[in-house]
Amino acid sequence: MTGDNRFIYMDNAATTPARKEVVEAMLPYMSENFGNPSSLYGIAKKSAEAVDNARAQVASAIGASPKEIYFTSGGTEADNWAIKGAAFANRDKGNHIITSQVEHHAVLHTTEWLEKQGFEVTYLPVDKYGMVSPEDVREAITDRTILVTIMMANNEIGTIMPIAEIGKIAREMGVLFHTDAVQAAGHIQVDVNELNIDMLSISGHKFRGPKGTGVLYIGKMAKIDPLMHGGAQERHRRAGTENVPGIVGIGKALELAVAEMDSESKRIAGLRDILIQKILEIPKTHLNGHPEMRLPNNVNVVFEYIEGESILLMLNRRAICASTGSACSSKSLDPSHVLMACGLPPEIIHGSLRLTIGHDTTEDDIDYVVENVRGVVQKLRNMSPLTPPELRE
Ligand SMILES: *Cc1c(COP(=O)(O)O)cnc(C)c1O
Repeated sequence: MTGDNRFIYMDNAATTPARKEVVEAMLPYMSENFGNPSSLYGIAKKSAEAVDNARAQVASAIGASPKEIYFTSGGTEADNWAIKGAAFANRDKGNHIITSQVEHHAVLHTTEWLEKQGFEVTYLPVDKYGMVSPEDVREAITDRTILVTIMMANNEIGTIMPIAEIGKIAREMGVLFHTDAVQAAGHIQVDVNELNIDMLSISGHKFRGPKGTGVLYIGKMAKIDPLMHGGAQERHRRAGTENVPGIVGIGKALELAVAEMDSESKRIAGLRDILIQKILEIPKTHLNGHPEMRLPNNVNVVFEYIEGESILLMLNRRAICASTGSACSSKSLDPSHVLMACGLPPEIIHGSLRLTIGHDTTEDDIDYVVENVRGVVQKLRNMSPLTPPELRE
């Protein structure tokens, strides 16, 4: 249960509440320490030092050097910058980009836009678990390929991609490799050198940091143009006065998340496994995403003979916040592109439900959610003309 109005928040892949220590670390930089880090007097130096400190925190969390860390306005900007920046900076080498069919829209809508600018994009398929095959990446690379961008973990179904293998192939073949690690950072181990990553996107609000904060890691080898033009901030690569409180917040949140990762992800994965096991006891229910290579917090299931939207509305009346897929697609009625790519038929996709566990989730919450999901599913099945007699109660 979260807050005074007692609701159960099971949508931590959409966003998380900022933790107390993070808010406390940020507060002074909104008022007394308000100086512009680019200025030369005392309070400005405090701001500059705070930004440096956050840069070191982020760098150490992902095995990078502070020089390789650039603060952005979020995961979306980091993805746009990595992909557009690499595309235009390497245009003399080629115009081919490789990605997957299950990326976040921050990647897919960016590559679709680049197609209109004359770039060619390969959208690799995935297996039924939503996983890209590293061999498919190798086969798709041509002498015109300038970038491979494949997410580290999927935001809808939680599948963790074989990033180490893909990174190794891209490095061997001399192609830049970007990964959207927004769902991974702060939740699973990330090391940019071990994984041969050239560019990596992070978002603060997915690991109990502030919204509107992000990071793009840019390794030494990566040639990439700026996206924002203006002042000399971020070593002339990302213009605009730094969001000092936000930067302090994302640095602190990531540092704490990594320090607590072992115990926290073990606890959360334990709750996830109980939730999966109990929900799959509902007849004609299937797990989406990979059974093992899966984010600790992600549960995604599909119920036959159910419309997803109606589940959410009925769960909301029972004070449960959940999602059918990504927050970004919940306002559209298009079936999830991720579940489509996994090969689910569209009529079944509408019966999908994503529950993502967080720091505040308890075992009692899991029991309450299972009981209510079971009740709601039965109610909806009883109402649907398509439900076979043996599933009615
Ligand atoms: C949330 C999310 C984003 C977007 O990050 P914002 O900080 O909300 O812009 C990008 N990619 C993935 C995988 C996400 O889950």
